Amino acid sequence: MWTLSEWKKRAAQQRFICQAQIEGKACDAKSGQTFAVINPATDQILAQVAECGDDEVERAVRAARRAYQRGIWARQSPTARKAVLLRLSELIMQHRDELALLDSLSMGKPVVEAWQLDIPGTAHFFSWYAESLDKIYGQVAPTAADAVATVTRSPLGVVAAIVPWNFPLEMAAWKVAPALAAGNSVLLKPAEQSPFSALRLAELALEAGIPEGVFNVLPGTGAVTGQALGRHPDIDCLVFTGSTRTGKRLMEYAGQSNLKQVWLECGGKSPNLIFADCHDLGLAAENAARAIFYNQGEVCSANSRLLVERPVYEAVVERLIALAAEWTPGDPLDPNSRAGAMVDARQTAKVMDSIAEARRQGARLVCGGERLTINGVTNYIQPTIFTDVAPDSLLAREEIFGPVLAVQPFDSEQQAIAMANDSHYGLAASVWSGSLNRAHRVAQALEVGTVSVNTVDALDICVPFGGGKQSGFGRDLSLHSFDKYTQLKTTWIQLHQSAAPGGDYEAG
Ligand code: NAD
Repeated sequence: MWTLSEWKKRAAQQRFICQAQIEGKACDAKSGQTFAVINPATDQILAQVAECGDDEVERAVRAARRAYQRGIWARQSPTARKAVLLRLSELIMQHRDELALLDSLSMGKPVVEAWQLDIPGTAHFFSWYAESLDKIYGQVAPTAADAVATVTRSPLGVVAAIVPWNFPLEMAAWKVAPALAAGNSVLLKPAEQSPFSALRLAELALEAGIPEGVFNVLPGTGAVTGQALGRHPDIDCLVFTGSTRTGKRLMEYAGQSNLKQVWLECGGKSPNLIFADCHDLGLAAENAARAIFYNQGEVCSANSRLLVERPVYEAVVERLIALAAEWTPGDPLDPNSRAGAMVDARQTAKVMDSIAEARRQGARLVCGGERLTINGVTNYIQPTIFTDVAPDSLLAREEIFGPVLAVQPFDSEQQAIAMANDSHYGLAASVWSGSLNRAHRVAQALEVGTVSVNTVDALDICVPFGGGKQSGFGRDLSLHSFDKYTQLKTTWIQLHQSAAPGGDYEAG
């Protein structure tokens, strides 16, 4: 692993791709518009990047549609598509340092985290979907004997993916890998804060052998590029990870245009329930800290509400306060930093406003709560813990998307479940209990997409991820993800009685 000065040296030499990648070519926006991408750890501009408008979206959609209709990817044999995606996975690992650096420099996460988790994770998603694409079988329906009906999966056509900045390359891979594996053409719009790894992915995809036009990357803002994709009449499906507010807009765009399919992974306010019969309170506290402070708390499934049974409440809070110090942010390029900078000054200010509002609403600040200055830059926030959080306060209900934990006590299993479900989000939850009965009971009762028992934020490519309520709908990861990128086709073959003598079927 590299040292801080080695990462810094590497960062100083880093190339940033500033142009859109459409039909295998790098291009500027016709309007000449660009936007600045700023390193939140230095407040310096990394590059001015092309802002794609209607012209670029139109060109990219046409290229994607052409590629789809010509079948240069969609009708390649599964073996051939698999080989290309496996090659892409290898290339991602070969460029692990560079991709980790691109994400860290643009959104502030510790480079080591990106290097250890995000980039190998991304490579694994591509290889996993590559390996799965030739193992998906169709079905023969249980019809009466006078018919044969097959149910097969076909790609949708042109898929657009709009992704956030918190895990820039990984969130892109969650969508792009299965969409390509299923045979679609793909348009990817990375978040304006973190476009570089996606743009580099487009270059690597070409190198791996993905035909021109099949995978296009359109950098730009949500209001311009994102909206143009959302409203485009020739995109078949829009997949999204981001805020609930934007998710609602995308559904409007779809309704106002061509009724494209929309699949949403939105925000969360995930509860973590620690029962007094938990077998290892120390482990539960350690995980509770990780579940909110990892990635600066900028995680959609962050366990931002901690519900603790009263007999162990004080002990858990005490441990958490001690553990929080381990998550104090540092220079993202320092391999010893466990947390880094917030994504930008705006998000930092937004989180600090939420902290101020929590105080105003009477919550008790027991740890952190301050902005930190590192290398002269103020985009850092201390790990922060509040107790005495009122159930109807902003802190208990709204997603903060920062390192801020709300702790509340409970007195019974029923009360804990009611508190956990009292949210308009339904993404994830965690449960700590030594009782198998209780763990199953509570897991069944929680209104969320994923329940982690005696761990937090369980996530693996082999299990689906996604939520309900205003956390969205549809699932990423696992084979279930193909439900979003394929459509079922029924082919019904009516069998008729043979007219010719000696035919193969005679009615009795
Ligand atoms: P955001 O919704 O503002 O942005 C996400 C993406 O949507 C970006 O690419 C952005 O450019 C685009 N966008 C914004 N406005 C748009 C518009 N009007 N039309 C089309 N596209 C638009 O979210 P954010 O603040 O950047 O990201 C943080 C949010 O993402 C949090 O709320 C978090 O919970 C959520 N998130 C959810 C998951 C999940 O899997 N459920 C994962 C990560 C982040």
